[in-house]
Amino acid sequence: MSRVLIIHTGGTIGMTRTERGYEPNGEFFRSAIYGLSDLKAADIPQWDLVETEPLLDSSRMSVHEWNKIGKIIADSYEDYDGFVVLHGTDTMAYTASAMSFMLCGLDKPVILTGSQIPLFETRSDGRDNLITSLMIAGSGRVHEVCIYFGGLLLRGNRTMKYSADGMQAFTSPNYPPLATAGISIQYNEAAMRKREEEPFRSVQLREVPIGVLKVFPGIRFEHFRPMFTGALRGVVLETFGSGNIPDDNSVLASITAEKNAERTVTVVCSQCPQGTVNMSAYEAGSMLRQIGASNGRDMTTEAAVAKMYYLFSTCDDVDVIKDMIGKDLRGELTE
Ligand code: ASP
Repeated sequence: MSRVLIIHTGGTIGMTRTERGYEPNGEFFRSAIYGLSDLKAADIPQWDLVETEPLLDSSRMSVHEWNKIGKIIADSYEDYDGFVVLHGTDTMAYTASAMSFMLCGLDKPVILTGSQIPLFETRSDGRDNLITSLMIAGSGRVHEVCIYFGGLLLRGNRTMKYSADGMQAFTSPNYPPLATAGISIQYNEAAMRKREEEPFRSVQLREVPIGVLKVFPGIRFEHFRPMFTGALRGVVLETFGSGNIPDDNSVLASITAEKNAERTVTVVCSQCPQGTVNMSAYEAGSMLRQIGASNGRDMTTEAAVAKMYYLFSTCDDVDVIKDMIGKDLRGELTE
């Protein structure tokens, strides 16, 4: 029988209501989950439970917590066939993206899941999310980091939170689901990553200063000058459509020509969830090529943020990082 490690990090799935709103409640969750008869069924893999301390609303997740989760998986990698990470939905797509880069040569399923309604409330979506995630994690059929939620298994670094209150909270607009869970779980073998050749190893991330700037009509880049001139190592620029910005007076070009600006890596992503960046399509995007911005192609902002943390944690050469941004490392973009 396969063995799965459940790593509880917080999020609605394990929360109870308090006068300040929902909060993680480890003690309640532990006693309740061990009493859940469904998790003792014959077709559920054997499982163990660990918790990260403190349990968090996922809006508080940072590189520090990603490193904790990565270390737990690395330390117990040989003892389990798969991993289920219980996580808040708000930043689950960021954590899934980060894990995909941190866990190199991953050969086992790492499935992030959670719920919109706490597990022990009557209408909770957490029951199916947890049970199906356990089955997928024990199946031996997946060799990558995924999010399972609302009946869909999605590649983690292609995913974004799409609904604040719907049970199908996640979407993967530029990549098909890896499996759909109806009466049975149907795997989309063609879409899944193949077994890794390189041996498994995990990377810890550094808390590099990076930022995200969403372009809007009337933006004045001079208000954001420090982002490009040394305050940040990397900027994810969320542009219009296929990579367009309003910069009639070439302000961004003069800012990025300033001293120290060459150390900042700018990655161009799109505000459109679906489709890809093409900086040669319009004159309005050509400036970004001139200033040496990297093409984020069809990468989500979540994946771009995680990839920058990963690249800055593993490489010191800015030119190499600029080049790697647009390369497919873990199936996060289409080259
Ligand atoms: N605020 C919660 C969290 O991300 C939302 C959720 O889990 O659904 O931790």
